[in-house]
Amino acid sequence: MLMTTSWDDGYELDLEIAQVLQDYNCTGTFYVCPKKNKNKSKLTVDDVFDLSKRHEIGAHSVTHPWLPDLAPVDIEREILQSKQWVEGITNKECKMFCYPYGANNAHARKYVEKAGFLGARTVESLQFSMANQYAMPTTLQVAPFPGRKEFKQWWHKIDMFGPLRVKLPRLLELHVPLGAMKSWLQLAGALLIHAIENDEPYFHLWGHSDEIERYEMWDQLEKFLEFANANEVKCVTNSELLESLIGQNKTE
Ligand SMILES: [Zn+2]
Repeated sequence: MLMTTSWDDGYELDLEIAQVLQDYNCTGTFYVCPKKNKNKSKLTVDDVFDLSKRHEIGAHSVTHPWLPDLAPVDIEREILQSKQWVEGITNKECKMFCYPYGANNAHARKYVEKAGFLGARTVESLQFSMANQYAMPTTLQVAPFPGRKEFKQWWHKIDMFGPLRVKLPRLLELHVPLGAMKSWLQLAGALLIHAIENDEPYFHLWGHSDEIERYEMWDQLEKFLEFANANEVKCVTNSELLESLIGQNKTE
């Protein structure tokens, strides 16, 4: 079974993620955006170049907009210029794009293909396969589960288990045991076992390094990668995964 990981926005703590991945024989695709910072430290251009030696660097737009709100000409510019920006730093072909907030429409998907990307990632979760390489779903985000960790809206306090509520129908459909819904790590482990036992095409883990820090999830991430290693999961970058899936389709 193939596992791929991706990390969004290009925060400085991505260097920490890269080290953790390397410790467990894994690689990552880092979707770096030049403008988004949320007042957090970002990777420098030199950091991005260094990361590109052992991991993959993907494009994530220039200004991190909600692409479907933009005029088609602006969607195309955001996509094309971010590819050129990444390639200017890494001196390698940038094969992958990630839609900011996962938001995409027919224009965005068309321009990603026209720009020459191999594929594009969304934020759709609890999936193990894809129907369209320009709308690649994920399996699980490294984020608080089953409860919220922050209450940014007044109603969050009466919906403390929002993460579980949102995921529950799909988790039941996947026959994830209730006992695995007690923590993020147990859920991640159960989903990985589901993927292995059902011979699913992939498991895609993703996240933001600044959130892993804020929600103190480093230990859970390491334990999950250790578990994946013990289950002989093969780790590949997002584009390596796509190349492998597309290659399989051609031979069928
Ligand atoms: Zn982002």
